Amino acid sequence: MIFLKTEDEIELLRQSNQLVGKTLAEVAKHIKPGVTTIELDRVAEEFIRDHGAIPTFKGYPNQNGQPFPGTLCTSINDVVVHGIPNNTELKDGDIVSIDCGVFMNGFCGDSAYTFCIGEVAEEVKELLRTTKESLYLGIQNAVQGKRLGDIGFAIQQHCEAKSYGVVREFVGHGIGRNMHEDPQVPNYGRRGSGTLLKRGLCIAIEPMITLGTRQVTMDNDGWTVRTRDRKPAAHFEHTIAVNSGKADILSTFDYIEQVLGNNVI
Ligand code: MG
Ligand code: MG
Repeated sequence: MIFLKTEDEIELLRQSNQLVGKTLAEVAKHIKPGVTTIELDRVAEEFIRDHGAIPTFKGYPNQNGQPFPGTLCTSINDVVVHGIPNNTELKDGDIVSIDCGVFMNGFCGDSAYTFCIGEVAEEVKELLRTTKESLYLGIQNAVQGKRLGDIGFAIQQHCEAKSYGVVREFVGHGIGRNMHEDPQVPNYGRRGSGTLLKRGLCIAIEPMITLGTRQVTMDNDGWTVRTRDRKPAAHFEHTIAVNSGKADILSTFDYIEQVLGNNVI
């Protein structure tokens, strides 16, 4: 069941999502060769709790009922999503997708960004650029009167034109009082198909795009999703509210990109 949000509810969603953007920026300050993903996780958890919010991912159960142990999903190189923070050190040439969720004043925030560590191969930077572009193309289609399939179509077309893989098994989602609400928001689709988009629909749009095959595998930990060919994957996510004319982007990359400065890809 889809819950359309009132203006007051959208403002609360915005506050939660702005905190996610600030948390990712705080994490960005610590991203460098030698830092471990568990250290980044501690930075995020402390920042979120200091701001009176709760990390939504922590304790979130997978389909087997196993709770996610981290505040962040930290997905390095061939890990597409749901990487568990651990003692792995980031190294020069890596990419890491960091996904963050918070719960504050009754509403969730959810946003993700893929970061480069040091000098990253040009073909991987191009994957990141294209994934981020596809997110904004999806958002351009998240307006009143269009349909859900228009969002996925825009993302898929942009990424497949460069022969990248569009992951099918994981999708975006409605968001509100719960992190995952209806509808599901696939990163592929047919133009003009699916649910009609109405003002007040709040969704997380999150393309997960691979350099090679779109096929993925799951590690034995029940969380870590990798590309089957072990080539890198990128993940960018915004939470938005459908509006007339132009979507209202409730999350933000501005704080992150202020920290990255000239290193924004
Ligand atoms: Mg997310
Ligand atoms: Mg999400």
